[in-house]
Amino acid sequence: MARLARYAASPATSRGRSFPEPKPAYRTQYQRDRDRIIHCAAFRRLEYKTQVFVNHEGDMFRTRLTHSIEVAQIGRTVARALNLNEDLTEAICLAHDLGHTPFGHTGQDALNECMRKYGGFEHNLQSLRVVDVLEERYAEFSGLNLTFETREGILKHCSRAKARALGDLGKRFLKKQQPSLEAQIANVADEIAYTNHDVDDGLRAGLLTIGQLSACSLFDTQLRAVRSRWPDLPERRLIHELVRRMIDYLVSDLVRHSGERIAARAPKNIEDVRKAGRSLIGLGAEATRLQLELKRFLNRHLYKHYRVQRMSHKAKRIVRTLFAEFMGNGRLLPHDVQERIMEAGRGTGGAGRARIIADYIAGMTDRYAIAEFERVMGPARGFD
Ligand code: MG
Repeated sequence: MARLARYAASPATSRGRSFPEPKPAYRTQYQRDRDRIIHCAAFRRLEYKTQVFVNHEGDMFRTRLTHSIEVAQIGRTVARALNLNEDLTEAICLAHDLGHTPFGHTGQDALNECMRKYGGFEHNLQSLRVVDVLEERYAEFSGLNLTFETREGILKHCSRAKARALGDLGKRFLKKQQPSLEAQIANVADEIAYTNHDVDDGLRAGLLTIGQLSACSLFDTQLRAVRSRWPDLPERRLIHELVRRMIDYLVSDLVRHSGERIAARAPKNIEDVRKAGRSLIGLGAEATRLQLELKRFLNRHLYKHYRVQRMSHKAKRIVRTLFAEFMGNGRLLPHDVQERIMEAGRGTGGAGRARIIADYIAGMTDRYAIAEFERVMGPARGFD
């Protein structure tokens, strides 16, 4: 690996872990973070959580797990090209969706509504809660005890009220500071990954057509270029070639423009990055416009497609029903969840109980949530 830029995150200047631990012998601190993330239960469950298409709709679609791996791939490429910390970027990318509910954004919106009276639910904050509190794997501490920089990268946004409760990690939201460049990369890599793979999945599912998508300049430019060179390319290969070229265009633009912004600002160290007042990682104006056009198109034609909406409709009902039934009768919950409520609930009233129930529901995979709904509500189900 080339030498890290002086403004890159580095274990040497790391703000460390909440619970002090001996240094790893042959890995960096951020490699250790990444390894802990890969081995945690929440990471494995991403395999059965929706990105756009519910897991059982087909084996070929992206899941939260493959999405996270694609984000990490793009993130690592950009980090290495800019001489930034690849290990930290990878750790943040792999962890960024750990707190996602079943059924994608619909699941999170439904759970947020259920939790309105109890402090709300936000998947980004939940990702932090997973790595800070919920994972139970180590003898000496709860959570994964990750470094400050990985946790800072996971927490993309946060209200001022919540930031105040988060101590050191929340300070940057109160002071309006930026996170590390590695965290900024993870953020943009997430958008590039999902817009492009949603095009691919949308076409595969037959919810979008090539003709429709040619209304988007980003897609159409590549379509013209590929068709003029290979007029008879079969559709499957055409789609892959187009998606590959769109990702390449965006990633190349991201590397170039971020390099320019960093050079113009000339940060001396990571603290200068944090105080820069704006994100130094980003697409140029033209690429931003093209990506936005594609995002708007997907919003109108894919996410609002009636077949996606039908699944969202069912998902909302499952999440709302489970929450209401568990809140109404805690004895319906598995023993370990009841025990958590007993421990956490003392003195916190309904909010403590609601938070543990939200943790339980958020941790479910799509298929587990559907099965749990059947077990709780299905008249034909017996004792199971
Ligand atoms: Mg994501």
